[in-house]
Amino acid sequence: MRLSDIEAQETAVRALKSSIQRSSVAHAYLFSGPKSVGKTSAALAFASALNCADPAPDGDACGMCFSCIRIEAGTDADVRMISPEKDQTTIPQMRDMIRDLSFAPLSGRYRVYIIEQADTLNPSSENCILKILEEPPPYAVLILISNNPNSLLPTIRSRCLAVRFRRAGASEVEAALRKRFDLPEEEVRVIAACSQGAVGRAFRMASAPEFAGERQVVLGAVKEWLEGPPVLAIRTAELLRKMAEPKKDDPDERTRIRRLTEMLEHILSWYADLLALKVRGSEAPIINADYAEYLNALAERYHVDKLRAAVRSIMQTRRYLEGNITPQLALENLFFDLRADSQ
Ligand SMILES: [Zn+2]
Repeated sequence: MRLSDIEAQETAVRALKSSIQRSSVAHAYLFSGPKSVGKTSAALAFASALNCADPAPDGDACGMCFSCIRIEAGTDADVRMISPEKDQTTIPQMRDMIRDLSFAPLSGRYRVYIIEQADTLNPSSENCILKILEEPPPYAVLILISNNPNSLLPTIRSRCLAVRFRRAGASEVEAALRKRFDLPEEEVRVIAACSQGAVGRAFRMASAPEFAGERQVVLGAVKEWLEGPPVLAIRTAELLRKMAEPKKDDPDERTRIRRLTEMLEHILSWYADLLALKVRGSEAPIINADYAEYLNALAERYHVDKLRAAVRSIMQTRRYLEGNITPQLALENLFFDLRADSQ
């Protein structure tokens, strides 16, 4: 992975390349920005650029030397990733890091520690980091990654070089998808629209063979529920919940929440379309163009305020799911709430 491969983050990439070019590498970076916009990939690409045996003139990694290949494979002893264990970045993980950092790099120029979800550091772990930053070994580089940087201690934030990552525009996500995947144009548009400007999320959807099928199942279920009695909300919630069950080889609970929120994106796109058609008329550009006729008729049944409220409830439900509310309950409530005839 090279910095030049990071899509739609020109400002962040430029800042990182220039800190290598000018030989002004900081001991600590804070990569902040929404989920799945490329922070972790950029951290690995930056680590490659720092240790590359044959870097390009602009400071980027070559992507082909032993160091680059080992970093890409996750087997480089000088570049380590710390991910939270059960939602906490623990003291033993921090102690291991401090011990490792007392040794010079094995083969590269720097020892790079990438701390994912740095907002899961507890106060004692944060103190360990502060201790390192007070007297960092010359070869140490810490990269803290967070989508909620304000939850970090101000003393940590002030010692990190801030690198901000942003959401990409729909056309940037589309361009990134076309570069990497060979997909029908309609699917490119739908995935980009559902990705909310997160290129990583768009790539996940594009590489999941079930994405297109799943969208049809979710939207099909939504259509059936809208045509049936209100109590169908319970069955529709159950269907989605079962679809999101983690597979046997992936028992990670976060996968379930991620899959559920991705399904909610389809429903969100559906209601965003209804709102667009209601406000801007039947010619408004919509995401689910393959359902245009049905959506146009459906928009007639809704009051515009109800559609605005529906979009808000879907976003609220997404927050509930991320905050660990029982999925069945959250989804049932949502479905009862979204019908044109509900109060
Ligand atoms: Zn290289």
